Amino acid sequence: MASKKPMDERVRAFVAAMLADCSENEDEHIDDIECDMEALADAVASEFAAQRLARRSQTFASPPQCPDCGKAGRHVGERKREILTTRGSAPLIEPKCYCPACRRHFFPSVDSIGPGR
Ligand SMILES: [Zn+2]
Repeated sequence: MASKKPMDERVRAFVAAMLADCSENEDEHIDDIECDMEALADAVASEFAAQRLARRSQTFASPPQCPDCGKAGRHVGERKREILTTRGSAPLIEPKCYCPACRRHFFPSVDSIGPGR
């Protein structure tokens, strides 16, 4: 993941912005902080996966090649499915393609992203 700003600097700014919107709670316990940490980490991981998968699904070569015969297929739509990651599921919208020679549909993203678990 290439970026000009170091990740810890961006995370610090993100967390500061998140905390600026929260009210202070004097009765807060370490368990409350841990619970919020986990909820935030899960939300960030989920959004990160969704955005990375969305970016990736836009990068498939055009026209897509049929995995069986290698001839050019055509893009006929999209399919939405859930990818299971170590941090939970993430939505994937992938191109659905058709090969007129084989008369079958195929999904180019299965080779690069995988069928999911
Ligand atoms: Zn084919």
